[in-house]
Formats: sequence, structure tokens, C-alpha cells
Amino acid sequence: MNWPKNLKVKAKEPLRNKTTFRIGGVAQYFSEPKNYSQLRGLVIASKTSRLPILILGGGSNLLIRDGLLRGLTIKLNSIPFKRISRKGNCITAGSQVMLGALIKFANQQSLSGLEFLSGIPGSFGGALAMNAGCWGTELGSLVKEVEIMDYNGKISILKSKDIRFSYRDSSIQKYIILSGTIRLKSRSKIKIRDKINNYLNLRRKSQDLTYPNAGSIFRNPDKESAGRLIDLCGLKGSHVGQAYVSSRHANFILNRGSARAVDVLKLMQLVENKVKSKYGIVLQPEIKIWR
Ligand SMILES: Cc1cc2nc3c(=O)[nH]c(=O)nc-3n(C[C@H](O)[C@H](O)[C@H](O)COP(=O)(O)OP(=O)(O)OC[C@H]3O[C@@H](n4cnc5c(N)ncnc54)[C@H](O)[C@@H]3O)c2cc1C
Repeated sequence: MNWPKNLKVKAKEPLRNKTTFRIGGVAQYFSEPKNYSQLRGLVIASKTSRLPILILGGGSNLLIRDGLLRGLTIKLNSIPFKRISRKGNCITAGSQVMLGALIKFANQQSLSGLEFLSGIPGSFGGALAMNAGCWGTELGSLVKEVEIMDYNGKISILKSKDIRFSYRDSSIQKYIILSGTIRLKSRSKIKIRDKINNYLNLRRKSQDLTYPNAGSIFRNPDKESAGRLIDLCGLKGSHVGQAYVSSRHANFILNRGSARAVDVLKLMQLVENKVKSKYGIVLQPEIKIWR
């Protein structure tokens, strides 16, 4: 493939260390555009060559296949995608601002509302795409507007009324999210800090961070907890190769060394089969799987 000269595109870039799972092969093509114009150039060149585009955020909700991942993987890792600013009670942040940095900025500005996301390791763009949530609150509820680029390279601003957010899903997943604006509430820094610490403590108690993982593997079925069902099937500690169902949080799969994507997929299948045969419930993956 001949890429336009101004675009820096690498071939066969390893992806494993760009994910929290530490699993995955190599991207056929990989690029970190320096600005919107380079991103548009990549989008148009890929479209012309019918090459799929994959947008990588913090890589914290992803299982990437072993071997060669076809297409162009793009990471929005440069300054224009990491800007953050305040206007009134709103914060606008680029998609590659990490959630931890966003929460810290909001705290410094005495703006409250994001604390529930404390401890989630993703980027703002990934969290918008996934409508990340916890403790009964979702990021989508704070959104004022989102700046997106479509796969023809056209940039638009979508107002919250034009975006559908649902459980770990959003209608903006089909675009490249460039930045987003959220509405927060004014509050004292100390109260915000207390809330952050509370949420971090709850997380420490409930999650298993002893080995690389991608957070919850399956979505919670209606009025049920996927972790509870997996636990009731006696699956804690089950493993395929180095991929283990966590003994602490049954909806977490841990990479205890050199797990491959195929190991995780086989383990997921085993979990799905057991839960289906015991409870008649078909578990759906929450993580995104790039095959
Ligand atoms: C220990 C741990 C705990 C977690 N806890 C939670 C939790 O409590 N609640 C929760 O909701 N999630 C949780 N997660 C999952 C994950 O952190 C979130 O879903 C996060 O929002 C994903 O962001 P990311 O940047 O890492 O996205 P990635 O994993 O990089 O990508 C996820 C999806 O979003 C898409 N995407 C990423 N960036 C963009 C963009 N700019 N434009 C368009 N699409 C994009 C990707 O293409 C992919 O489809 C947890 C994960 C871990 C490892």
C-alpha cells in the first residue's frame, strides 16, 4: 500500500503492549496522526484502498487477535487529541485524554460529576464510545456534545440529543471521536477528593488487578450479574493456557503471563457454555474483540 508521503504509517506494529490485557499480535498498518488533517488523510487513503480502520484508545476494553490484524490501526496520540479546557461548568477534552487526567483536572477546577469513573484505565474517547459507567452512573449522562470525524473525513459536532447512549454502547462508536464536552457541577475540592477516594476504595475491594486484564469480560444480563452467574457455575480459577478466570472477580479474565487471544476466546466459550447450560442465559461479551 502506498500511503501519501506526509503520513507516517508503520507496518507490522506490535499491539500487545498498547493494551491492558497485554495480548495481541501486530497491526498490518499503524499510525499516530499529528493533527486532524493527517487523520483525514489516513481516513481517505484507507477508504480508497478499502482498508478497515480500527481506533485504539487506552486499549483497556480490548482483546486483539494473535498474528496479523488486518487494516489500519490508528491511535490519536498527539497534542491536538490531548487538549483539555474549561468554560463555565463545562470541560472539553480531546479523545486521548486519559480518564485519570480528566478527573484530576476537574478536581483542580472544583468541578464534580466524573468521580464515579475513578480507577477506570481508559481514554475519554474510548469511554464515550463505550458509554463507560460504574456504580449506577454512565458517562453519557454528562455529555453536552461530541466532535466526530466520519469515515469520509467530515468533521461535525453532535449534540447530546442526537446521540444514543445505552448500556456500554453508544451511537458514536461508528465515528472517530475527536473530543467531547461534558457538563459538571461546582463543588469544593475536598468533597470531590473524598468521593474519588471512596470510589477508588470500593474498586480496590471488588476488582482483581493482580495480572493484566481488560476489566469485565461479559455484559451483565438483565437484572443479573455476569460475575455472580460465573461464580455459581464454579468457574473461578478455571483456565486455558495462561488465561484464568479470576478467583476474586469471576467476570475478570487474567493474563497470568503469556496468554494468547485464542486462550481467552476458548475460556470465554467455556464460561458461556456453562452459564447457558445451567441458567439458560447467553452471556454477551462486553470487551471488544478485534479478530
Ligand atoms: C481494571 C479495569 C477496570 C474497568 N472498569 C470499568 C468500569 O467500571 N466501567 C466501564 O464501563 N469500563 C470499565 N473498564 C473497561 C474500559 O476501561 C472502558 O470501557 C474504557 O472506557 C475503554 O476506553 P479505552 O480508551 O481503553 O478504549 P479501547 O479499549 O481502546 O477501545 C474500546 C472501544 O472503543 C473504541 N474507541 C476508542 N477510542 C475511540 C475514539 N476516539 N473514537 C471512536 N472509537 C473509539 C475502540 O475502537 C473500541 O471499539 C475497565 C477496564 C479495566 C482494565
